[in-house]
Amino acid sequence: MKLTILGCYSATPRTFTNPTSQVLETKNHIFLIDCGEGTQVHLRKYKVKFSRIKHIFISHLHGDHFFGLPGLVSTFRLLGREAELHIYGPKGIKEAITLLLKLGDSWTNYPLIFHELESKDSELLFEDDKISVHTIPLDHRVYANGFLFREKPAPRTLDIDKARKYGIDKSQFNNIKNGADGISKNGELIPNVKITLNPPKPKSYAFCSDTVYKESIVPIIKNVDTLYHESTFLETEKHLCAKTKHSTAKQAGQIARKAHVGTLILGHYSTRYKSLELFREEALQVFPNVELADDGKIFEI
Ligand SMILES: [Zn+2]
Repeated sequence: MKLTILGCYSATPRTFTNPTSQVLETKNHIFLIDCGEGTQVHLRKYKVKFSRIKHIFISHLHGDHFFGLPGLVSTFRLLGREAELHIYGPKGIKEAITLLLKLGDSWTNYPLIFHELESKDSELLFEDDKISVHTIPLDHRVYANGFLFREKPAPRTLDIDKARKYGIDKSQFNNIKNGADGISKNGELIPNVKITLNPPKPKSYAFCSDTVYKESIVPIIKNVDTLYHESTFLETEKHLCAKTKHSTAKQAGQIARKAHVGTLILGHYSTRYKSLELFREEALQVFPNVELADDGKIFEI
């Protein structure tokens, strides 16, 4: 999995900081997560192929998370897109986008498919034979979800050296890859596990933005490799969290610790702070593996 941060700051776009948007590349998919203003410019900048984006996940309908979406949808049309585009987001997103397209008489010439969300429980949004995507219900000023991306276990891979050592004919290789045992040239049965290798461990990524501290997400994100959790504030501004329904860096660290995640990535910083290192230091008080998101940063998961 490769995660590219296109933007990770809260509220207004500024010269050097952009609102939330991320690209997750995994198993032949390019998933776009949130789409703040300017997202299409950043997709260009980081050379993400527009035509490979088939699924867009929007956490909530605050402007800093989706005002880039109408522009992107229109650009796809101008580029002559024909492939389906699936948009997953809160109920109301269809009305918001279609009104703009209708008023501009710029309806798409490709299928635009909305999946409107309103459940307060985690639900499956997308699945194929290699990956699944579930919602992570959050608690924000408006209805909001995070998204959990989980790779499925891959089949075992053939260990050609071992297979040859046992004198197994290559006509059996496909069956062995599909789980069959092998037969050596002396007619001996060789168990599948002796001639195949363990597949790489499936990876998982959880995106949580924006939310007040919410412990009920812990079972959903348990043991993920990487968790992105918003940290709009530091503990010095903790009193603002209840009103604005945001979290502090320390609270993000507490969620990461309780969920036993591998790495915590912080983001959605309020621009009131002078240094991002303050966020890392605060989260490190409760959780050992803390990274700071920043625009243009790439994380290998
Ligand atoms: Zn918000």
